[in-house]
Amino acid sequence: MTLVAVTKGREPETVRRVLVDGGHKVLGENRLQEWRDKHEHLPSDVTWHLVGHLQRNKVRYCRPFALIHSLDSLRLAEALEAEGARHAHVFAVLIQVNVAREASKYGVAPADAADLLAATGDMPHVRVDGVMTIAPYHDDPEEARSVFREARRLRDRLGVPALSMGMSGDLEVAVEEGATLVRVGSALFEPGPG
Ligand SMILES: *Cc1c(COP(=O)(O)O)cnc(C)c1O
Repeated sequence: MTLVAVTKGREPETVRRVLVDGGHKVLGENRLQEWRDKHEHLPSDVTWHLVGHLQRNKVRYCRPFALIHSLDSLRLAEALEAEGARHAHVFAVLIQVNVAREASKYGVAPADAADLLAATGDMPHVRVDGVMTIAPYHDDPEEARSVFREARRLRDRLGVPALSMGMSGDLEVAVEEGATLVRVGSALFEPGPG
């Protein structure tokens, strides 16, 4: 299981102190612009994941990311394929699935994930490593369990290895349900109880 330490909204100095000095080497960012301003101020031996929505016209900034968690359309896959072909670069991606079908969230419907995966079969510069999902926000993390379970079943059906799910509020449930990557921000940066 990999903990992706999500640094959005934090100053580079804070990120360095809390994460890098604390031994975290896999960092997540959800806003490209913020990443561009920030990563130069951080050690170069960290691995970056893009966890937030990616616009097609921004794919040219994405080669430094070891994993893009947010493939949410065929058109984005095509843009990544074209960019990868230009630079002989293979993008590793996760298909973001909107399991709970929330209007406010990106991601493909679960029923469309297999078609998107199949389409990338013709794209030598896009490699789908797994599935990512974001559970609806609830005070009770148990509410996320059925969403995580469905994401895992979908991942199993697709036959891909990675499963990115769980954030500060629901990461324990996500791990119980088989997450291989959890994306944690506030729990690492904000002092908890005690
Ligand atoms: C911010 C963010 C996280 C981390 O959220 P926390 O609640 O701070 O742990 C995880 N995934 C995505 C996509 C995010 O944007």
